[in-house]
Amino acid sequence: MTNHTVKKYWDDPFIFSFTTSVVRVVDEPNRIGLVFEETYFYPEGGGQPCDRGKIDSHPVVDIQKVDGEIIHYIQKVSDKELYQGSTVSCEIDKDYRIHNMRLHTAGHLLFGAARRLYPKVEYAGFNIGKVGNLYLNTDQQIRSDDLHKMSLMANLYVVENHPIKAYLVKQDEVNNIAGLAVNLELPEGDVRIIEIEGWDVAACSGTHVQRSVDIGPIKVLAREVHKKNVTRIDYAVGELAILEMAADEKIISETSEFLSTSKDQLNKVVQKMSNELRNANKELKKMQERLVEYKFHELNEGGEVINGIRVVIEKLDYLDSNSVKILVTKLLNQSHATIVAIVGGGEQASIVAGCSQDVQLPVSETIINIAKRYGGSGGGKLTFVSTGGIKADTEKLISGVDAELRQLIG
Ligand SMILES: [Zn+2]
Repeated sequence: MTNHTVKKYWDDPFIFSFTTSVVRVVDEPNRIGLVFEETYFYPEGGGQPCDRGKIDSHPVVDIQKVDGEIIHYIQKVSDKELYQGSTVSCEIDKDYRIHNMRLHTAGHLLFGAARRLYPKVEYAGFNIGKVGNLYLNTDQQIRSDDLHKMSLMANLYVVENHPIKAYLVKQDEVNNIAGLAVNLELPEGDVRIIEIEGWDVAACSGTHVQRSVDIGPIKVLAREVHKKNVTRIDYAVGELAILEMAADEKIISETSEFLSTSKDQLNKVVQKMSNELRNANKELKKMQERLVEYKFHELNEGGEVINGIRVVIEKLDYLDSNSVKILVTKLLNQSHATIVAIVGGGEQASIVAGCSQDVQLPVSETIINIAKRYGGSGGGKLTFVSTGGIKADTEKLISGVDAELRQLIG
């Protein structure tokens, strides 16, 4: 029968060095597991990673809870100093533990905030790394505005400096605790309760800070729909939270300066600009449509007849590539013995060309070859081709298209 290790990290999570005695040594091929009489080392569990630290100057590589025993793993050592009954000195990595405790406690605060925003919310997972990941199961979508509210509520709770208490209750008393949040399945035997004064109460075996102010600033970073009804919320605490806040501040300041407006007017100004841009694009689209109509009427009967084929070659720098495609399609529609090639401008030139069904000439191939010659590319079918990305002067391009199409017909 194994002895249950006394979990001293529950009594005082702010003790970072202690001595204890070894009650069992687990010899594994590549590492040694040590079971202590009592430990302040936190084993991996409930989304919180195990502590880092040293046992008699040997770095801790893993800590796991197995059947009530807490096994502390170190790398294989040759000396025989660690044996059943020996006394060991332990050092816990304080900064790392405090980081984990802050992230862990902040998770409870954000969960409490979510409970105030949604009628139905449950834990769907929890993870602590460089940032915290809180998985929430909600019956409605978590919007970006809600993240802002959660962040604000949790941070206000932090500065109000409430106590955070932990205690054990008997299994049969658990049901009497109103609004108890359960992250994982309830353990057998006594249940550890975390009471965040006036905010939330949960069954939890992790380590927590003792007052809300010890969490420091919380920065909600992002949300992502994990699966149906489950959203993952990423958040930072400590130095990372401060750096993220400063980065946001910098973006806002630089954008305000660029737009010559104050921070509080930024949202309005950007919305106004966005509306104006949308309207300008609509106008531009209408004008392009009118230009296509105008050019269609101008070119529909035009062109030069070579060997019985009407050839229309034009350079239209001011039409976007989509409008050029529409124009070429219109010009070829229901036409006979016709070839159309239009060169469009912009940062990189484009050629859209085609021929009527009765023209059995490889027009597409000729145009693609010209485009490729100048770093462009394109595709289409035998009677219609669209190319782009051409790095050549449009004047030079149009004379090339003209010469090669004449040769093809000639
Ligand atoms: Zn907890």
